Amino acid sequence: MNEINNNLGDMPKEDFRKFGYEIIDFIADYFENMENLPVLSQNQPNDLKNALPTSAPVEGESFPQILGDVENLILPAVTHWNHPNFHGLFSTSTSSVGVFGEMLSAAFDMKAMLWRTSPASTELEPVVLDWLRQMMGLPEDFSGLIYDTASISTLHAIAMAREKLNLGIRERGMSGRTDLPLLRVYCSEQTHSSIDKAVILLGLGQNSLVKIPTNERFEMDAEKLSEAIREDNMRGYLPCCVVATVGTTSTTSVDPVDKIADICQRNNIFLHVDAAYAGSAAIVPEFQYYFKGWERADSIVTNPHKWLFTPFDLSVLYVKDLDLLKQTFSLVAEYLKVAETVTNQMDYGIQLGRRFRSLKLWFVMRYFGQEGLIARIREHCRLARLFASWVDDSENFEMMAPVPFALCCFRAKLLMTRTFISPEFQEKYYDELNEKIMNEINASGEAYLSHTKLNGKFTIRLSVGSIRVEERHLEKVWKLLKSYV
Ligand code: PLP
Repeated sequence: MNEINNNLGDMPKEDFRKFGYEIIDFIADYFENMENLPVLSQNQPNDLKNALPTSAPVEGESFPQILGDVENLILPAVTHWNHPNFHGLFSTSTSSVGVFGEMLSAAFDMKAMLWRTSPASTELEPVVLDWLRQMMGLPEDFSGLIYDTASISTLHAIAMAREKLNLGIRERGMSGRTDLPLLRVYCSEQTHSSIDKAVILLGLGQNSLVKIPTNERFEMDAEKLSEAIREDNMRGYLPCCVVATVGTTSTTSVDPVDKIADICQRNNIFLHVDAAYAGSAAIVPEFQYYFKGWERADSIVTNPHKWLFTPFDLSVLYVKDLDLLKQTFSLVAEYLKVAETVTNQMDYGIQLGRRFRSLKLWFVMRYFGQEGLIARIREHCRLARLFASWVDDSENFEMMAPVPFALCCFRAKLLMTRTFISPEFQEKYYDELNEKIMNEINASGEAYLSHTKLNGKFTIRLSVGSIRVEERHLEKVWKLLKSYV
């Protein structure tokens, strides 16, 4: 038996202080030297698993041993989302001050369910979210709630929409009922898969999800939405919810929210806006026009963990009718009943206990201030437009979608001079070429890019969003790309 488990209780306080400083040094070194690490983990599947013991240590191990394994085993298995050359998916990164918020939240280990178990979380969260609401230019009638991810925020929004129909689904469910019409949810064909998952989980079924076609800019065709609702009404189906997106996942396209809000208003349909990625850009005054009409939505999701330098996870759902959200989810077991009339966060969602997430966003907002956050997002958009201009000016590359925010969709396009090559063959060749370029750059560890398919064509995506990104990082990627053509 070693000295660690000779005693009961927690780690000795002197050790906590000593190793705490070591951990901070470790994190500081990590942030400082990150650029020397490969962006994408160079591990092969199961490398880490195979290097780890198959059962927990019988006796406690020393902290230096544990930290040594973080360095030797865990770090090589990390893909560095914080790296300035992480351009895949959406480039999302934490600020170091956000890490402090996360550390304190772990130390408090609060489970925010009742006000009395967590006054700090219950009261800080609405204040921080009201600051964010004002920064994003949303009206006062929106109240915010924090969930872990946009997928869960959207699930709560569509559950509200279903509850609003007053069909007694909360009490009687949906299965075995012949009195229920088919409920319909509408989104565009570019919408994130979290909408599909929400309708699956809420028992509406994937067949209830209508994917409205988009135009050449990948924006929902409002006219087609109107037609689909009209046809559904004629068939006796019941429209439940429309999901519009500001900043779609593949291209960051912006649905015409104002027109969609008109349609929802005319037909009395719940409107949810998915601004998981782009919502943060609403704090930049000159980007406000992309968000025209979102103030008319019933609910909006935005993810500060995507583009507001807040460590994962922190997603915000803004709703107009907080009582409807409570009506959808509140259920108070005997052991949770309290006498005081206060907000209890457990009433607003599926979870009982919630993490104290607002603390890290509070840190980020206070440390950078509104101006600091605006400047960073504005710079990311400038860098993306700069990259797009390099692509536009090059004969061997082409842009595949507009750049409203900070994502470039493009592909390499080597002109084939032989005239007998069919267009199909040429497209197949482009697809293979671009996939090869992306895979080789990713394997090199120099940068991480991801892809999508637009109009059936393999398209490389380059997202600019890291708090550490500078122009030289994009120059590096551009040089790498040009070395292929
Ligand atoms: N909605 C959009 C538009 C997204 O781009 C994403 C993720 O990239 C999501 C929803 C899902 O986000 P989360 O991972 O927070 O569930």
